[in-house]
Amino acid sequence: MSVRELVGWGRFPRVMAEERVSEDLAAATHEVNLTRGLGRSYGDSSLPGRAGDVVARTTAADRILFFDEKNGILRAEAGFSLQELVRVFLPRGWFTPVSPGTQFVTLGGMVASDIHGKNHHVAGCFGEHVRALKMRVPDGRILEVTEESEPDLFRATIGGMGLTGHILEVEFQLEAVPSPWIWGESERVANLEELLDKQSAASEEWPFTVSWVDTVARGRGLGRGIVMKGRWATSDEAPQGPPKIGRSFSVPFDFPSWALAPWSMRIFNHLYFWKHLPRRKRGIVHPQKFFYPLDIVQHWNRVYGSRGFVQYQCVLPQGTPRSVHHRFFEALSQGEVGSFLSVVKDCGEEGKGLLSFPKAGVSVALDIPMRGRATQELVDTLNEIVVDAGGRIYLAKDSLTRENHFRAMETRLPMFAEVRNAWDPELRLMSAQSARLFGDRETEAGS
Ligand SMILES: Cc1cc2nc3c(=O)[nH]c(=O)nc-3n(C[C@H](O)[C@H](O)[C@H](O)COP(=O)(O)OP(=O)(O)OC[C@H]3O[C@@H](n4cnc5c(N)ncnc54)[C@H](O)[C@@H]3O)c2cc1C
Repeated sequence: MSVRELVGWGRFPRVMAEERVSEDLAAATHEVNLTRGLGRSYGDSSLPGRAGDVVARTTAADRILFFDEKNGILRAEAGFSLQELVRVFLPRGWFTPVSPGTQFVTLGGMVASDIHGKNHHVAGCFGEHVRALKMRVPDGRILEVTEESEPDLFRATIGGMGLTGHILEVEFQLEAVPSPWIWGESERVANLEELLDKQSAASEEWPFTVSWVDTVARGRGLGRGIVMKGRWATSDEAPQGPPKIGRSFSVPFDFPSWALAPWSMRIFNHLYFWKHLPRRKRGIVHPQKFFYPLDIVQHWNRVYGSRGFVQYQCVLPQGTPRSVHHRFFEALSQGEVGSFLSVVKDCGEEGKGLLSFPKAGVSVALDIPMRGRATQELVDTLNEIVVDAGGRIYLAKDSLTRENHFRAMETRLPMFAEVRNAWDPELRLMSAQSARLFGDRETEAGS
């Protein structure tokens, strides 16, 4: 056990806490207050909620326990990483049914955040593919939890951000793929209207879709960007041999804050947009480049300097008038702080997780440098638009949402609280995020 500074990927906020790491996850989670994986959630969901709370890290518990190679059912410890899954299983014709935009995540984190991917409109969230969990529940017992054995706990744990128990093992269904390569197409589009139309049309035909938006462009170019779509290449289309693992680079130090001025954001967004020449591209794409383009640069979060950054992700529900989408992007392009990287994606129907993020509509994810009051004000403004539209934010990304905004957008909270209370009446499990958003701070608790 060691006391160290714990952070999420956004490096804001930072907390000093005791962290336990052991190959024996059952032992490591005994009487701890939260479990975390690789810390790739951006905000404070993997940070402890109270002074003196202890956190378990799962990364040393990363064994494959069972694989049914006929049906693609995999059971592994919660610290097993997606990077390992891709390395071991993709060359054998299997892939995760749902992937986030980085492979540096653990199975436990994928379940607790109920991650979604570029195929949400056809495959739903990761939780839809989970068959069973082994958990240490807050009273200390270790249970096998399935939708049949403990339906409420199962559904609350999927997307429950680690607040219902410690996930020790995950059993889930892999997807069989015809080749390890992707056939991709991408297209530059001139404005928000065209982007939303083309993305929605692409989602009718393609299993993977996502768009990049230039959030600095204004006027007629507001919302211009690149719409990307893909599918697994057939064995006829795919190159001979498996894709080679590419070299990665590292950002060696924190960038100074002047490097993130509005002018550098404008240049970055402008270059990214015009780099896409010709207007349309198609062909075979390396799976790493398609699914994990940012993973090639290790420690890329240092680009945001020592103050860190926040990622903000929300979904604006289906039927939201286009004028609201415009208002959202206008607020971004007019604010004192902007966003370097902005990703838009169509979401399919809501899944089984009681607090899972996606619901049918358009999701927008933004990286915003941490600039104190200005960043908080921008998040407040965006949240007001989201509340009015009946949307919600993604907890795995959040660090600045206010409790009143969260309660206004999260109508499922009382249902989740009821299940959590039944399993953890003393609130032994808590995170900095649940203290900020769920009102946990008022409770005298602890293990
Ligand atoms: C570059 C990048 C791209 C991303 N793209 C996407 C994306 O496309 N879609 C998406 O959905 N997410 C995305 N994410 C977010 C990421 O997938 C999630 O935050 C994921 O949960 C991180 O996994 P982790 O192992 O790092 O978990 P952590 O960040 O360590 O923890 C995340 C949450 O899970 C809980 N948790 C972790 N392990 C356990 C366990 N064993 N038992 C109980 N609770 C546990 C923690 O308490 C915390 O609440 C992205 C993140 C990055 C950095």
